[in-house]
Amino acid sequence: MAAKSQPNVPKAKSLDSVTNDRTASQGQWGRAWEMDWFSLGSIIFLLLCAPFIVYYFIMACDQYSCALTGPVVDIATGRARLSDIWAKTPPITRKAAQLYTLWVTFQVLLYLSLPDFCHKFLPGYVGGIQEGAVTPAGVVNKYQINGLQAWLLTHLLWFANAHLLSWFSPTIIFDNWIPLLWCANILGYAVSTFAMVKGYFFPTSARDCKFTGNFFYNYMMGVEFNPRIGKWFDFKLFFNGRPGIVAWTLINLSFAAKQRELHGHVTNAMVLVNVLQAIYVIDFFWNETWYLKTIDICHDHFGWYLGWGDCVWLPYLYTLQGLYLVYHPVQLSTPHAMGVLLLGLVGYYIFRVANHQKDLFRRTDGRCLIWGKKPKVIECSYTSADGQRHHSKLLVSGFWGVARHFNYVGDLMGSLAYCLACGGGHLLPYFYVIYMAILLTHRCLRDEHRCASKYGRDWERYTAAVPYRLLPGIF
Ligand code: NDP
Repeated sequence: MAAKSQPNVPKAKSLDSVTNDRTASQGQWGRAWEMDWFSLGSIIFLLLCAPFIVYYFIMACDQYSCALTGPVVDIATGRARLSDIWAKTPPITRKAAQLYTLWVTFQVLLYLSLPDFCHKFLPGYVGGIQEGAVTPAGVVNKYQINGLQAWLLTHLLWFANAHLLSWFSPTIIFDNWIPLLWCANILGYAVSTFAMVKGYFFPTSARDCKFTGNFFYNYMMGVEFNPRIGKWFDFKLFFNGRPGIVAWTLINLSFAAKQRELHGHVTNAMVLVNVLQAIYVIDFFWNETWYLKTIDICHDHFGWYLGWGDCVWLPYLYTLQGLYLVYHPVQLSTPHAMGVLLLGLVGYYIFRVANHQKDLFRRTDGRCLIWGKKPKVIECSYTSADGQRHHSKLLVSGFWGVARHFNYVGDLMGSLAYCLACGGGHLLPYFYVIYMAILLTHRCLRDEHRCASKYGRDWERYTAAVPYRLLPGIF
C-alpha cells in the first residue's frame, strides 16, 4: 500500500486560501462536498434541538419520574409553564465543575502519560502503538492504544473508593447528574468550536480537511479528519472513547448505588443493564485497535457530531436505562430476566463475531478461515487523493455474506435487550433502541454511498453477491 506517515503540521492558512484550495485536498471518496437542503435542514435542527432533547429526557426523569409525556401534559393543561419546569432545573455548581474538570484531566493524563502495559501481559490483547487506516489523502496515523488500561485503572480506583477509601459516595454521579450535564455541554461546545477553528487555521493534515462552503455543515460534521495536538493527542480517539465510554460503566454503577440507597436493594433489571452494557464497553476497549478501522475513526471528520455527541449525547442518553431504574426499581421474573440475558448475549455474539470476521479477513489479507472455510472474496481497488492506486478486498463469507451490515443487527439485538430489561412501564428507556435503529440504518446508507464512490463497479459486484443491507429478505 502506498501510504505515508503523518506529515508535519502545515502552515496556518486563511479561510479563503483553504476553501479555494479544495481541489488539491479532495479525495476520491469520503465526507460529502455538496450540501442538499434536506441535510442542511437536519443539521440545523440537530444543532438547535439535540441539547434540548437531552435536557428533556433528563428533566423528565428528575421532575416527572421518567414520564416523557408528563411535561407536555402539564403545559397543555396549564398545570405548569415552561418557566416553572426550567426554574426547577438544578444549575451548574462549583462542585460539579470541579468534579468534571478532575474527571477529564484524569482521563487526559491516563491517555497521554501512561503508555500501554496491558498488551505486555494480557494474551490476545492488541495495544500499544498501532496504525490507523489510510486516509483519503493517503496518510496513515499512529495511535497509542491504552483505553483498556485507562478503563481498568479508573474502575480499580472506583472500587477502591467504594470499599476502602471512602473519599466520595458511589452515588456522586447521580447526585450531580444535572449540574454535570451543564459541564459536559460546555466541554462539548468548546471542543467542537476549537476543532472548527483549528481546521481552518492550523490543521494537523491540511490535505485531509473538507470544506463544503456551508458553515453549519462544517461545524456539525467537522472540517479536520484527524485533529491532533502534538504527536499523540488525537481528538477523535480521545473523545470517542474517554471521557464518555469510560464513564458509561461508572455512571451505571452510580445508578445502581443510588437504587440501593433509595430502595434498599439492587434489582435484577439493574444488574442486567450493568452487566450487558459493561460487556459492550469492555469489548470496545479490548478491541480499541480494531476500532481504528471503523467508520468513526476512518471516515468521519471531527466536528460537533463527534465532539458534542461524545461529551453529552453518549453519556446522558446511552445510560437512560440505569437512570430509569433508579426511579422505577423493576424486578423481573426469572423467565423475563433469562430472555433479556439471552437476547443480549446472542446480540453481542453476532456483533462481535461479524466485526471479528471482517477484521481478521482484512488483517490477513483474506488468508484465514471464516466459518471453517476459505472465504469468498471480491477484489477491489480505489484511488486516494495523491493519485495512488490501492487494492483491497471485500468479504463475501460469514456474516458478511448474510447481509452487508449484519454486525449492526447484533448491535440492535443487544440494544433491545437493555431496553426490555426495564419492563413495559414507560417509553423513555426504549429511546436507546429507537435511536440505534435510526443511527445504524442511516449509517448503513451513508457507508454504502461512500463505498459505492470508493469502489465503483467492485462495490456493485458486492451488492449483487449480497443483496440485503441488514436483514435478508427485508432490507
Ligand atoms: P463497519 O465495521 O461495518 O465498517 C464499514 C466499513 O467496512 C466500510 O466502510 C468498508 O470500509 C468496510 N467494509 C464494508 N463491507 C465490507 C466487506 N464485505 N468486507 C470487508 N470490508 C468491508 O461499520 P462501523 O464502523 O459503523 O461499525 C463498527 C461497529 O460499531 C458495528 O458493529 C456497529 O454496530 C458499532 N457501532 C456502535 C455505535 C454506538 O453508538 N453504539 C455507533 C456506531 C457503530 P473500507 O473503506 O475499509 O472498505
